[in-house]
Amino acid sequence: MQLFNNRYHFVDSHCHFDFPVFAADRAAVWAHCQRQGVNHLIIPGVSPEQWQTAAQLCQQYPGFYYAAGIHPHWIEQQHWCATNSAGLLDETTQQQIKQLLGDELTRVQRGAGKYCVAVGECGLDKLIQVPLALQQQLLGLHTELANQFHTPLIIHSVKTHNEILACFKQQPPRYGGVIHAFSGSLEMAQQFIAHGFLLGVGGTITYERAQKTRATFSKVPLQYLLLETDAPDMPVCGKQGERNSPEYLPVIAQTLAQLQGVSVEQVAEVTTRNAHRLFGLPE
Ligand SMILES: [Zn+2]
Repeated sequence: MQLFNNRYHFVDSHCHFDFPVFAADRAAVWAHCQRQGVNHLIIPGVSPEQWQTAAQLCQQYPGFYYAAGIHPHWIEQQHWCATNSAGLLDETTQQQIKQLLGDELTRVQRGAGKYCVAVGECGLDKLIQVPLALQQQLLGLHTELANQFHTPLIIHSVKTHNEILACFKQQPPRYGGVIHAFSGSLEMAQQFIAHGFLLGVGGTITYERAQKTRATFSKVPLQYLLLETDAPDMPVCGKQGERNSPEYLPVIAQTLAQLQGVSVEQVAEVTTRNAHRLFGLPE
């Protein structure tokens, strides 16, 4: 499937392209992306060991960037993760997280890890077993480091928009970020925008039944939006059950253009500019 030629320029702002599911054909998939104008991609962080894989891919493929973060799904799998009697991360674990993130972000400031452009993905998720209080504590540590290193955040929020807003109120992120794969009302979208955040537009909008999210994205000004696939998850409509891929980013751009009543060219131009500005990507 080839929707567009490369006269457009797209950024996939959230793509787990480092995952093993892409190991066999990553170069071919990326070549196809580039033929369609998808020529920048951001790999979110999920665990400290994985940051290294992401950093290596960034050296190998021009146009790749990554973020350093511990995804709430992955925290309990860290061999150094320990909790106290209240079920929260113990003092040593908290220090460990600050140290790991701090070292990674210091490398960036020294120029050695210049591909690291954000802190995340981090956030809250009500569909996983990890206690919410522990997830909130982990999010707080990420926000602290993002503020300290003048870096935007990549936020994962599943059925927790109000809880995320409460965390932002308590500890405001100073350098903005993105609510990845945003789904929700216009009113909720506006609250995140008021905190200096952009909203990640993913494959959800390609489904007719996602009426609320489609209505929201028909109204939020383009200047607050980023495009993302969240590949290999979140397949676009018609591709359910298949591995999602950054190759489908143009499908999302086309749907957004229809919802907004603008040209795909405009969607490409504005969302790409937004991504470059938020993450400080070179032209
Ligand atoms: Zn993700």
